[in-house]
Amino acid sequence: MTIQLGNADIIAAESAHTSGVYPKRPLAIVRGEGARLWDADGREYIDCVGGQGAANLGHANPAVVAAIREQAGTLISCPEIFHNDQRAAYLNELVSALPAGLDRAFLCNSGAEAIEGALKLARLLTGRLGVVATVRGFHGRTMGALSATWEPKYREPFLPLIDGFTHVPYDKLAALDAAVTEQTAAVLIELVQGEGGVRPGSAEYVAGVAQICRERGALLIVDEVQTGFGRVGAMWASQLYGITPDIMALAKSIAGGLPMGAVAFHERFGPMPPASHGSTFGGGPLVCAAARAALRELTERDLPGPAAPKGAYVIDRLRGLKLARVREVRGMGLLIGLELKERVQPFLTALMEQGVLALPAGPNVLRLLPPLVIEYDELDRVVAAIGEVLA
Ligand SMILES: *Cc1c(COP(=O)(O)O)cnc(C)c1O
Repeated sequence: MTIQLGNADIIAAESAHTSGVYPKRPLAIVRGEGARLWDADGREYIDCVGGQGAANLGHANPAVVAAIREQAGTLISCPEIFHNDQRAAYLNELVSALPAGLDRAFLCNSGAEAIEGALKLARLLTGRLGVVATVRGFHGRTMGALSATWEPKYREPFLPLIDGFTHVPYDKLAALDAAVTEQTAAVLIELVQGEGGVRPGSAEYVAGVAQICRERGALLIVDEVQTGFGRVGAMWASQLYGITPDIMALAKSIAGGLPMGAVAFHERFGPMPPASHGSTFGGGPLVCAAARAALRELTERDLPGPAAPKGAYVIDRLRGLKLARVREVRGMGLLIGLELKERVQPFLTALMEQGVLALPAGPNVLRLLPPLVIEYDELDRVVAAIGEVLA
């Protein structure tokens, strides 16, 4: 006999032994399908958390589920000291989907790891130490990625971090121009700052950053961990900005929700030196099979394309509400932020009570990150709930 546990039972059991690092919401999510989630008491939610960006393909995506089932019964682990059929096929398919010129990738297990790999590669390729990152930039929580992350409350308990990192105001070309020198190995940017408040960079800024990097021999690392795999209404934000990064960091929705990351790099660098980096789990057959299915779904069903009009629709409807508490509605594709004139936390709780799960992006921005498969009627319900809660 199985005993059905409710929210309260699960919350009590988990709280006893959890690490404590996550401020948690009083819900136990136990099942998902498309853009819907269910808690342990059977309540349904429209999901605008989207696995914090890992669920672009929708929950329980049948193609991803089938690929995982099939590969799990064939081979789960196979370190990269061997070749593997799923990895060989995936690298090929990934490179075909990447901006032209990026033709190799180091496979890892998360966004922070992708940033770590990108930083090591940039130092290795240039023989320089410096990294210029941005104010409000977010790149992960491991020591290297944290050195590039700006948020003082994430950094300060762990000082000193890694030498050579500077932070310049985002979307201000003059500040970047002044910071990039002959010692700069890399400039690391998001094209839309996600965690930092849903702030798209301007086209001139991004083009200017790319040019400064080219002129000074610094490598341009673009962090597409959140913006990649269709989130912004194209496969890559780099495409929309018309740039080719030297190095691109990928993760979140790369493998349909399984933990995976990648550091893609330009063909002119050739392969990385043997033994310069590594990971036990990186490029395992199970995640590669899931990533193949995820990439096929994204391209064959064209999930990125419709994310652009869906996002524009939501932004338009939200602006139309003319909510007095809202300073600005902005975004790109289905990465959407409402900057409030007050703290966002109470409104996230109120939305949850209305059956909509959403994220913050900093203290006063409400962030929507729904699976790309979300339907227009679901978006209408999200807009209605936001209107009610913020009225
Ligand atoms: C989430 C995120 C990361 C970190 O990814 P993890 O998988 O949580 O380590 C890095 N960069 C950006 C832009 C992100 O949104």
